[in-house]
Amino acid sequence: MGLFSVALSFSALLFLLIVLIVFNSKKNISSTPLRIFSSMLILTIVGLGIDVLGFITFKAFGPDAIINMIISRLYCVFYFLWGFSFTYYIIYLTFKLNKKFTNLAKIIASILAIIIFLLPIKIFSDGTSTYSYGLGVTVNWIFSFVFVLIMFYCLIKNFKQITKKEYIPLLVYLVLGTIVIIIQQIYPRLTLMLFFESIIIYVMYNTIENPDVRMIEELNLAKEQAEKANKAKTDFLSNMSHEIRTPLNAIVGFSECMLDRDDLTEETKGFAKDIVDASNNLLEIVNGILDISKIEANKMEIIPKEYNPREVFNSLCKLVIPRIENKPIDFNFTYSDDLPGVLKGDVSKVKQIVLNLLTNAAKYTDKGEISFNVNCINRLDTKTCLLYISVKDTGRGIKKENIDKLFNKFERIDEDRNTTIEGTGLGLAITKSLAEMMGGRINVFSKYNEGSTFRVYLEQEIISMEVPEGNTEEIEIDYNLHPGKKILVVDDSKINIKVALNILKPYNFNVVTAESGQETLDLMEKETFDLILMDIMMPKMDGVETLNKLKEIPGFNIPVVALTADAIEGTDEKYKNAGFDDYLSKPIDRYLLNKVLDKFLK
Ligand code: ADP
Repeated sequence: MGLFSVALSFSALLFLLIVLIVFNSKKNISSTPLRIFSSMLILTIVGLGIDVLGFITFKAFGPDAIINMIISRLYCVFYFLWGFSFTYYIIYLTFKLNKKFTNLAKIIASILAIIIFLLPIKIFSDGTSTYSYGLGVTVNWIFSFVFVLIMFYCLIKNFKQITKKEYIPLLVYLVLGTIVIIIQQIYPRLTLMLFFESIIIYVMYNTIENPDVRMIEELNLAKEQAEKANKAKTDFLSNMSHEIRTPLNAIVGFSECMLDRDDLTEETKGFAKDIVDASNNLLEIVNGILDISKIEANKMEIIPKEYNPREVFNSLCKLVIPRIENKPIDFNFTYSDDLPGVLKGDVSKVKQIVLNLLTNAAKYTDKGEISFNVNCINRLDTKTCLLYISVKDTGRGIKKENIDKLFNKFERIDEDRNTTIEGTGLGLAITKSLAEMMGGRINVFSKYNEGSTFRVYLEQEIISMEVPEGNTEEIEIDYNLHPGKKILVVDDSKINIKVALNILKPYNFNVVTAESGQETLDLMEKETFDLILMDIMMPKMDGVETLNKLKEIPGFNIPVVALTADAIEGTDEKYKNAGFDDYLSKPIDRYLLNKVLDKFLK
């Protein structure tokens, strides 16, 4: 039996030595449970060493030799320390103790270990097996019993967490421990305790204390926290956008009203125009930041619509030409004759991509030429059109080493030359993400100081090859639309109401205002309207709730258009799904407003 026990100990010793090497060869995260595990691992190896050594010295010197007395006492100390460490480990898991408790535990363990070492011990040996008894051993048993009680207490205390893998070693300890005690009762000479403890150590290694497992767990935690932080960032951006758009609505609204006035000097109107331009720049920056956060939060959706590509690209040229300002640049736009008349795709994203490239060409070119070409490859069997859009300029160009950085967000290159040009470094990052989101590609060829060519490939569905008659995209503001119509404007902000009143003034409508959802509902009892423009974010009853209450009124059929400063989820779909007939984002674009008014007042 003695030989069998020592053989078990020896193999466990070799095995744990390998575990020790593996454990120390990995990069560990410093943590209290890991430190406890590490000391238990070393302790167990020392214990196994003592066991094997004891076997040899017993054979060599007999049970009464001084060395064997020392080894037996060390053995007792080892058992005590092992039980103490494991119990402390379980206590630590259950109560998440502070570091100072670990130091206190070390002091207590050391004092008790010395006392146990000094207690009297006797050794029994009959030639085949050997075991110790006496006060030292009895005290050890008492401690073991106390340790098991404490572990049970922890188990009950934290019963809900019991399925967590940190507790697996404890469960194995309790189950296997019982089995080992039973076996020891049957074969008292078989000492299995050390082997059993080695198994526990290995189980610990494979649960929480394996550095890999621990590292993965910490990484998961970090990922979770990063995701939370990202969500907080998106929420923050959404709020910030709302907060910035609301005052911008007033700034743009009033400045545009000033531009329409006849009683102001040209100089004052010039100031108003500058205010509008600066506000539009600011709005572009806010929108860029929002787009990036939408893309990162996977909230950007593809919303396909039918459109006339000739009309869309023409309108983009009209937007970009003013940005060339007075620079000596020839701008030319060409498209191939076989460009289909009507395509289907996410036209607003196509516009955004092309506008970004055209705006950059205008910004970063001082003289020469900007050519905007749209070509296509049509496949009539699959009804697809591969749009092949290129924007070529004779501007400053991009250094070879900077090409890779071009599409990184917030990265502006050639900063020293850029200082006078407005930008956030988001444009191309957004452009690339949008193109890829639509299954397209973007690439760039550039020579420093000579110019650049950006090319985008996008696949769109062909609806018709025929070019539709008339130009629906182009609308002039028509103030004589439907004079006398009755319109209700609902907004909790007085300044926004004032903006809306000023924008609507030239139309000669009969405009009524309400500052809350409740006021709107009260008005409905005595009046009727041709159209309602409703703000979304209002205290107490918001726009969506007010709309739902309005719809409960029997026979209610007034078109309701949402006015929103929240652009993060501001897709048409969201407001249309909520039951609105249409939506306009703030700051209110007069052309879009004109379109909406015409649509619903006809
Ligand atoms: P922004 O224009 O806001 O700085 P972009 O992401 O649109 O950000 O562009 C990133 C950088 O790429 C710009 O700062 C500019 O240095 C460079 N760049 C973009 N387009 C051109 C171009 N057509 N010619 C030269 N440089 C360009």
